[in-house]
Amino acid sequence: MVITMENALFVISLLIGIVLIIIFVTENSKQSSVVEEFYSLGTYNQLKVHGKNANKAVEQSIKKIREIDNKMSVFKEFSEISKINKNAGKDPQTVSKDTFYVIKKAIEYCSISKGSFDITIRPIVGLWGIGKVGQKIPGINEIKEKLKFVNYKDIVIDKDNSSIFLKNKNQEVDVGGIAKGYAADEVKNIILKNGVKSALINLGGNILVIGTKEDGTPWSVGIQDPIKARGEFALTISVVNKSVVTSGNYERYFEQDGKRFHHIINPGTGYPSEGDIISATIISNNSIDGDGLSTGVYIMGIHEAVKLIEEIKGVDAIFITKSKEVYITSGMRENFKITSNDFVYKK
Ligand code: ADP
Ligand code: MG
Repeated sequence: MVITMENALFVISLLIGIVLIIIFVTENSKQSSVVEEFYSLGTYNQLKVHGKNANKAVEQSIKKIREIDNKMSVFKEFSEISKINKNAGKDPQTVSKDTFYVIKKAIEYCSISKGSFDITIRPIVGLWGIGKVGQKIPGINEIKEKLKFVNYKDIVIDKDNSSIFLKNKNQEVDVGGIAKGYAADEVKNIILKNGVKSALINLGGNILVIGTKEDGTPWSVGIQDPIKARGEFALTISVVNKSVVTSGNYERYFEQDGKRFHHIINPGTGYPSEGDIISATIISNNSIDGDGLSTGVYIMGIHEAVKLIEEIKGVDAIFITKSKEVYITSGMRENFKITSNDFVYKK
């Protein structure tokens, strides 16, 4: 064969082609999907991560979640939250950046919700035995006594010293209503740092999605039917890069004399919230905002809750009421599908 310029070019292009195919195949074989389930933060969690560094991202994420649990659990003697509570009325306690940030954000949401969300609710939550076995209705006098000390305005934060102090010795904080949101945001950062573009973070029903699904379509997130069993949805929404956090009366509860006592306490009464909302979902960019808001608005009346969320830019909400009506704020109205005949959309 005579080596002409044309032949040489053909062979070179062929070789380049083969090399490109090999690169493509090896790159693709490195893509993997990892689904990992684990218990932490007092709940079941699932991470679904798709991409080259999925394994590494999941490993680092679980480590971070456990670290947050160790710092912020009210049930762990050695946690920073326990340290703050034990030293209430005595000394300010130096805490990590994580805990300081969560408490600072929590106070913001206590204020935005005008005290519906109040992380100094802990003594009342303890009285109801939430998160423990053998729950029972506490006595009205015990409730009244402890209610006197519920006031988030008594939390003193000092940025320069990264310290937290509770003014009164009878006070205790509980970041159970916001810590999962923070953990989800931290996991998102870890996943993004690993170059992953598609993932679903589910921390006990708090959902945060990164990008789209593997196939490029939006994620479909189901909102639990608050009346039916777990896993049955009242509606679904489709989202890309969003946090979807729901507070509901079906999450943790006990029943006594045919009545349900759930875990979201109205700081005005000291009893589980009995307002018209039975499920409050917040759709936001950051999950800490969604978590802090969902617990607070759950306790408010429906109209006040809708009004508050409409006022916050970039945040939307879906509320389900006792009378089985679904309220949706303006940013989500094009983007939902009621999947159960039990519920009606309230325009
Ligand atoms: P979940 O933890 O089930 O996702 P939430 O985010 O709504 O639900 O948080 C509920 C938890 O927050 C309770 O278990 C309790 O520890 C705490 N909590 C209960 N009532 C309040 C309240 N009014 N303000 C702040 N935290 C609360
Ligand atoms: Mg919450």
